[in-house]
Amino acid sequence: MSGVDGHLVAAIPGDGIGKEVLPAAQRVLDAVAVRHDFALSWCELPWSCSWYTEHGAMMPPDGIDRLRETDAIFLGAVGSPSVPDHISLWGLLIPIRRAFDQYVNIRPVRLLPGLASRLRECEAFDVAIVRENTEGEYSDVGGRFATPAGEVAVQESIFTRRGCERLLRYAFDLARQRGGALVSATKSNGIMHTMPFWDEVTAEVAASYPDVKWQRMHVDALTARFITHPEDLDVVVGSNLFGDILGNIAAAVSGSLGVAPSANLDPTGRNPSMFEPVHGSAPDIAGRGVANPIAQVWCGALMLDHLGREKAAADVLTAIETVTADPALRTRDLGGRATTKDVTSALVDALP
Ligand code: ATP
Repeated sequence: MSGVDGHLVAAIPGDGIGKEVLPAAQRVLDAVAVRHDFALSWCELPWSCSWYTEHGAMMPPDGIDRLRETDAIFLGAVGSPSVPDHISLWGLLIPIRRAFDQYVNIRPVRLLPGLASRLRECEAFDVAIVRENTEGEYSDVGGRFATPAGEVAVQESIFTRRGCERLLRYAFDLARQRGGALVSATKSNGIMHTMPFWDEVTAEVAASYPDVKWQRMHVDALTARFITHPEDLDVVVGSNLFGDILGNIAAAVSGSLGVAPSANLDPTGRNPSMFEPVHGSAPDIAGRGVANPIAQVWCGALMLDHLGREKAAADVLTAIETVTADPALRTRDLGGRATTKDVTSALVDALP
């Protein structure tokens, strides 16, 4: 259904608070779409850990083919205390990321108006974390072996030149667009093969971007920098594992996981991209109507932007900034008492 009038979007609420924040975000996105004269057509898919318990799989065998028909995938969160994490990860998220070659995971992190960082008083910051999303440390190569010295577990990391290069180009392009600087997360002082390779490819790609200031930082030092001086950072690029960890730290620095969005992109546009919050299914607060919907709504803004609806996306961000500036509209994770419904209604009302 690609075209001027609308977009077909797969909606996968998943588990836990995903079932609360995803419908909330759909409400906001439908409202902004009406204002901008286009329609979002939702293809609701119940794939989740509950679905796994019933069917023995996270999605049906033709799941990927069904998603291929859509313009984008809007996902809440999958995960349940009764299903091991690797099942939701390897049964749904990783197959989608790989089938659609969503090799860029982007996590924008900003200190939103009115919100205070969890960790320290700090100035406003606005960082884009670019994480490699299809290879690296999250591989299924390895195993457990019995040896004369006892049991050994081996986990291989796979870094391909093509995979590193295309991701780094995306990150350097973004840094150029933002007129900012780039930091590449490495650990070549401890990891002997993959990280020196990553560094080498970074330097090669950087040679085509003489106008972009860049530096390498060991990931341990970079982690500390996120906490002490996030305002010094602009674009941060890292491998699958490093980007994942830095994304969660950055989310905490920005106030809460409840305001941290992410996008899994196939920048070529050949396949649907997937938009999901950094947070998980949060079983500790699920079903109580207190989850913060802002991360999911912000994911919706990233999705609209990706679908070419830049003005609608900007309106959603304006609404988010209006709402976070009002202390009466904060959910519990931000120290307030507002409910998911209160914040959602306020977001709809705050749309320009
Ligand atoms: P999972 O295994 O699915 O990742 P988890 O509980 O380990 O679940 P998260 O779901 O990310 O990890 O939750 C971490 C903490 O952050 C929890 O205490 C949760 O309540 C809180 N949290 C996460 N997302 C939100 C949100 N949108 N609103 C409020 N609190 C949240």
